[in-house]
Amino acid sequence: MHEEERKRMVEKLVRCGYVHSKEVIEAMERVPRHIFLSEGVRDYAHSDTPLSIGEGQTISAPHMVGMMLELMELKKGYTVLEVGGGSGYHAALLGYMVGTEGHVYSVEIIESLARKAEQNIKAVGMSDRVSIILGDGSKGLKRFAPFDRITVACTAPNIPEPLVEQLKDQGILIIPVGVGYLADLIMVKKDKGKLIKQNCGGVAFVPMRGEYGI
Ligand code: SAH
Repeated sequence: MHEEERKRMVEKLVRCGYVHSKEVIEAMERVPRHIFLSEGVRDYAHSDTPLSIGEGQTISAPHMVGMMLELMELKKGYTVLEVGGGSGYHAALLGYMVGTEGHVYSVEIIESLARKAEQNIKAVGMSDRVSIILGDGSKGLKRFAPFDRITVACTAPNIPEPLVEQLKDQGILIIPVGVGYLADLIMVKKDKGKLIKQNCGGVAFVPMRGEYGI
């Protein structure tokens, strides 16, 4: 039942133009979003909407996750940093796309969410390639840097310098930059020390906490 509904959800995201690559489509068809949700909201797992994951935080809407995955141009074997692990859903999709040769480090600042995300990652069999780390991801994760890709799931007031430093040359950083919940989704490409920035449009994410947050 969940599989059919998930397939329909992905078909809709394709029809609306949010996702198009076979890699993103396959990942979104395979990773079971309902596993990352609590009983109370599980019935809505395949609606294109953000949902509560507790502690005042939300799992992003599927179209937002799909859009961000498309922008990241992920390849097998990549090392990826996610800031704002939440439920672990986005991290699991990243894990699916980088494969067993790659690795995803997903940092979450709220302990109860990090613990739950770790259980969710285990439940979908991704513990070999996704590590959930409790901490302040606004500072990046120096001990596993540099990263091929960095993705941020909370609105930052500015682009944190450590994230730029921890990005490899030719790497891509996707980050919502704004005030409170409202942000512009910014894509930063690093090219021989130069930063090429592109505004990918208006989005809404929970505010970033920690040293480089609010
Ligand atoms: N990607 C998640 C959704 C994340 S919601 C998913 O798929 O479910 C944003 C998350 O960012 C929240 O859980 C919030 O606690 C976390 N967050 C906010 N500031 C943070 C910081 N400085 N470091 C790590 N996580 C942070």
